[in-house]
Amino acid sequence: MPADVREVKKAGRGGGLVVSKKDVLGEYLEIMLVRSLRPRGGAVTALISAALTAGEIDGAVVVKADDLWRPKAVIATSEEEILSAAGSKWVITPMVRAILDALRSRRLEKIAVIGTPCQAQALRDMKEYPLQTGELASRIKLIVGLFCMGSFTQDGFRTMVETKYGIRLPEIKEAEVKEEFFSLTLKDGRQINIPLEEFHGGIQVACLSCNDFTARSSDISAGRHGAEEMGERIFIIRSEEGRRILQTAEDMGYLKSGEATEKNVEEIFKEGVAKWRRAERFTEQLPF
Ligand code: SF4
Repeated sequence: MPADVREVKKAGRGGGLVVSKKDVLGEYLEIMLVRSLRPRGGAVTALISAALTAGEIDGAVVVKADDLWRPKAVIATSEEEILSAAGSKWVITPMVRAILDALRSRRLEKIAVIGTPCQAQALRDMKEYPLQTGELASRIKLIVGLFCMGSFTQDGFRTMVETKYGIRLPEIKEAEVKEEFFSLTLKDGRQINIPLEEFHGGIQVACLSCNDFTARSSDISAGRHGAEEMGERIFIIRSEEGRRILQTAEDMGYLKSGEATEKNVEEIFKEGVAKWRRAERFTEQLPF
């Protein structure tokens, strides 16, 4: 039995076709475990801060959220602005206007964009199949895609945590997927772990047909899966540009990286197959 078949039988829940590592992980150069060496913010924040400080980029489109977890894409041109947007937001955020503002109104020449796998794919298409946006898209220098199992509408997110768990949105400090749970860290230090099945029940319908967990179209994909225990992040390096900017960040002392272990890769694959199977099950039910 080929290794991939065993892997899918172990990791997947559906009965569809074999899903290979390449399907889930996409094309890549290397998979790294990365730790921020900065006093504040995680590995992605450190990477973007280093790229900005080194002049590799002159701005980044990042997502900030207010106390009610209403997200907004903003243009960050300083390390402080990048830091103020640290952390996953979990609520779908339109980004095109902010990207156009960065490129047209602010006239930035080389920007980074941090987004979901579907946003990374749209940006890659803009770069590779340029229509009228060709010149603008060429100024997107770095696409960082975040591992994604789904996103909420702001209302859906509020309903899940307020109605079911009695938590008011302003109480939430951080929200992350950790192993089997969607984990909320509250400002008073409490930790609320919501089982992933409930989390999946609240995400947007469109996400149920999406099979891209690892942001296959990005220059660097980043996520926690497979790296939770060590307080690190997984970076999947997909382009020479991504590799060069990671090296720059390391040379500047913003980050430390080492090769990911087989166990790390297995964890990512397992989660990616679960998402793939979810998409299969959902699309099988569609009437067309
Ligand atoms: S699950 Fe797919 S469609 Fe939904 S936000 Fe994530 S990448 Fe986009």
